[in-house]
Amino acid sequence: MGHVFRSDVQELAVQSLRRYLDAEVEPVYNREYRDRFVPKDVLGAIMQRLAGFGLVSGVVADERLGGLGLDWLTAVMLFEEVATTSIDLSVPVAINSFGASLLDKIAPEHLRERYLPGLLRGETFVSIAVSEPGAGSNVMEIRTRARRDGDDYIISGEKTWISNGGYSDFLICTCRTSDEPRGGLTHFLIDRKEHPYEVSEISKVAFNSQSTAQIFLSDVRVPAANILGEGRERFKQHSIVV
Ligand SMILES: Cc1cc2nc3c(=O)[nH]c(=O)nc-3n(C[C@H](O)[C@H](O)[C@H](O)COP(=O)(O)OP(=O)(O)OC[C@H]3O[C@@H](n4cnc5c(N)ncnc54)[C@H](O)[C@@H]3O)c2cc1C
Repeated sequence: MGHVFRSDVQELAVQSLRRYLDAEVEPVYNREYRDRFVPKDVLGAIMQRLAGFGLVSGVVADERLGGLGLDWLTAVMLFEEVATTSIDLSVPVAINSFGASLLDKIAPEHLRERYLPGLLRGETFVSIAVSEPGAGSNVMEIRTRARRDGDDYIISGEKTWISNGGYSDFLICTCRTSDEPRGGLTHFLIDRKEHPYEVSEISKVAFNSQSTAQIFLSDVRVPAANILGEGRERFKQHSIVV
């Protein structure tokens, strides 16, 4: 983004981030773990430092929950620096940022308060689970099923190509709650500890310093209170998710 004029504040933010990336991230991602899976504790320590520079934390405005409320241009400038050092590291940064933005916009307050602070501090990881073996661009083909059972839903299905899957502490998972093509899609927050799901890494020709995974959900019981978004608007929310 060299052609975009940076304000003094933006220049300072970018340069201090660059010094950290050169000194502490470059040796980890481009030497020690070059195209090898970066363990969660190593990535977690980096994400916590990046949060201090406004990565992920910058996309949410609510200071009470740890948001720094950066404008999107500054957030993109910082993101670009991360991607210049390591495209693999840029994936968890991007996915946690999308997840944080989505939680901020459509999650009920009890989920925002519980899940946003850790994500904004770089302590937890989210995955956004939309794609399936038979559903890519056309999300209306999603088959992962969520069946109502009292105050819960029971979820079964398979998701694939899920970035951050191996690192994830929770999923924002798009499921089919009825056969109505558009209105029948619902996003659930699925906490990995409370409602365990199975994760299997996908081996790739590149991009192996980060996690891309298959997720298997087998009768996973999730409270109805973990639904994100409202009614028919949920289909439109895919444009935020993907
Ligand atoms: C590295 C990586 C990370 C990913 N991370 C995630 C993730 O975190 N979460 C997640 O849910 N998914 C993730 N995905 C999956 C990604 O979202 C899908 O690959 C994408 O939606 C496309 O789906 P598909 O691969 O099934 O291709 P398809 O939908 O089958 O498309 C195949 C081709 O047909 C074209 N095409 C499709 N429909 C049309 C149309 N109507 N008109 C014209 N052309 C069309 C497409 O452009 C494409 O070229 C990831 C994929 C990769 C490779």
